[in-house]
Amino acid sequence: METKQFKAESKRLLDMMINSIYTHKEIFLRELLSNASDAIDKIYYRALTDDALTFDKDGYYIKVTADKENRILKISDTGIGMTKEELETNLGTIAKSGSLAFKKENELKDGYDIIGQFGVGFYSAFMVADEVTVISKALGSEEAYRWESKGADGYTITPCQKDSIGTEITLKIKENTEDENYDEYLEEYRLKSIIKKYSDFIRYPIKMDVSER
Ligand code: ADP
Ligand code: MG
Repeated sequence: METKQFKAESKRLLDMMINSIYTHKEIFLRELLSNASDAIDKIYYRALTDDALTFDKDGYYIKVTADKENRILKISDTGIGMTKEELETNLGTIAKSGSLAFKKENELKDGYDIIGQFGVGFYSAFMVADEVTVISKALGSEEAYRWESKGADGYTITPCQKDSIGTEITLKIKENTEDENYDEYLEEYRLKSIIKKYSDFIRYPIKMDVSER
């Protein structure tokens, strides 16, 4: 008897992800911060085995920037970054976890810090944003790439400019609706309290910069 593989309708899967997996929209920030932290951990692990690489703790951090006027929230990190291929596989395939793969490749046992494993957290950004842009430059790479998506319709990847290694995620925050307030994700006090709530497990500094209007 032949065992058949399940097929998945990716657009609907993504819709389901965005609309029904999480009860609280605020957790998108936890997901993006944990990905940023994982990306820095990966540089750290690389440095343990690669003599050419030094890990100077001060050079590694996560930054959250809000621009209220333009409804932009940015989460950037100085982590390992993603190549064009990694943007394609990790952000273009639902439930594909580059972090789980990294743990396996490097035989990292449980108890190590890398958090990612399910390959779905990133898409939670679409709960609060109608457009997500990821600009990334991978460790050891000269080129940078921009991954852009408005959700279920798909994504594009194009070459771009980025000076330093790492990843910058830009969310175009949704407009408020009758039942849902999105402005709060651009407010300093609110962002601070979400960060505080979910950042216990993050061992790198999180800097914040919020424009006042
Ligand atoms: P998970 O974290 O469970 O693996 P996600 O959906 O949150 O799943 O992320 C998918 C993958 O995309 C990660 O495993 C990682 O390989 C890659 N990724 C996401 N964010 C970043 C980032 N800021 N820097 C580097 N790689 C990232
Ligand atoms: Mg994750």
